[in-house]
Amino acid sequence: MKQVHGEKLLASLGDKVKELRGRLTPDAPMDRVTWFRAGGLAELMFQPHDADDLVAFLQMLPEEVPVMVAGVGSNLLVRDGGIRGVVIRLSAKGFGDVELVSETKVKAGAICPDKNLAAMTLDHGIGGFAFYYGIPGTIGGALRMNAGANGGETRERVVEVHAVDRKGNTHVLSNADMGYSYRHSSASRDLIFTHAVFEGYPEDKAKIRADMDAVRQHRETVQPIREKTGGSTFKNPEGHSAWKLIDEAGCRGMMIGSAQMSPMHCNFMINTGQASGYELEYLGETVRQRVFETSGIPLEWEIKRLGNFMPGYEVKEYLGELTA
Ligand SMILES: Cc1cc2nc3c(=O)[nH]c(=O)nc-3n(C[C@H](O)[C@H](O)[C@H](O)COP(=O)(O)OP(=O)(O)OC[C@H]3O[C@@H](n4cnc5c(N)ncnc54)[C@H](O)[C@@H]3O)c2cc1C
Repeated sequence: MKQVHGEKLLASLGDKVKELRGRLTPDAPMDRVTWFRAGGLAELMFQPHDADDLVAFLQMLPEEVPVMVAGVGSNLLVRDGGIRGVVIRLSAKGFGDVELVSETKVKAGAICPDKNLAAMTLDHGIGGFAFYYGIPGTIGGALRMNAGANGGETRERVVEVHAVDRKGNTHVLSNADMGYSYRHSSASRDLIFTHAVFEGYPEDKAKIRADMDAVRQHRETVQPIREKTGGSTFKNPEGHSAWKLIDEAGCRGMMIGSAQMSPMHCNFMINTGQASGYELEYLGETVRQRVFETSGIPLEWEIKRLGNFMPGYEVKEYLGELTA
């Protein structure tokens, strides 16, 4: 695995880092973070103790150092050459709580698992959150990806989002400011969401419980949820299902190295063993090419791909939609 230069970056920050209460880890293995269990090293990982610690760190970090934030990596494909700069991982202690704000409103920290928010709304008879029961990510990831399932979406429930920018300034965004569309938010990429307020509606607990059970049962029968995966690989193109296009292109079960398009749900890519980031991404691009050749439809990645390729293992993006 290629080494990045985390110790050097850490040393360049000097003694100021001693004031921080969070944890700094140079050359942090991202394969321990992502659900794919693949990918290279993050040059430096910072786990802030709380929001003040996050602000203090961003204010001391030189402007030219790139920063990205990871949730639990259930939608991330990290390349084998690793990630230059800093990866922020919010600590459960500082950013993991979920609490009731009013009869129908809840406040959740950005590293709170979606499932915990769903469970707490069930306890209080608040409807509109059952879809979160089946999504394995965190609230931060849901806010960024407009995560949704079973007819529900994050954008329907968000009231306001609290965030910190790259310079350490704090912001409060309204639902409209988040610029939501299908699996996308146009909110500035440099924002780190710290927590958000959501609103549901009063609902019978038995009905919420039944909806959650239906969500769980559906997933267990149609998705490879116990595999090393990143969830849906590609977005559904307008008027089409990505999985159907992939199936029709003959890519169900297709393998490159240990990376495979799941035979169970062919829009889920899985790591069947020790797949590298290269194998996973190369498989994805090969599928995009086959689908374009058979249907004329360009698939768009839903999974976020990050970091640098290992030299000699670059994956060329299939640009069929531009060159055909
Ligand atoms: C088995 C399985 C099933 C899935 N099913 C669904 C589904 O039904 N519906 C669905 O929508 N998704 C689904 N996913 C994908 C994934 O769970 C969601 O996209 C989830 O919202 C990602 O959350 P995360 O914490 O894992 O984010 P990550 O994968 O760590 O990050 C995803 C993106 O969010 C950004 N991000 C994370 N935290 C923050 C933050 N605090 N501030 C700003 N940006 C942040 C990251 O920078 C990255 O761009 C599934 C994944 C798996 C593995």
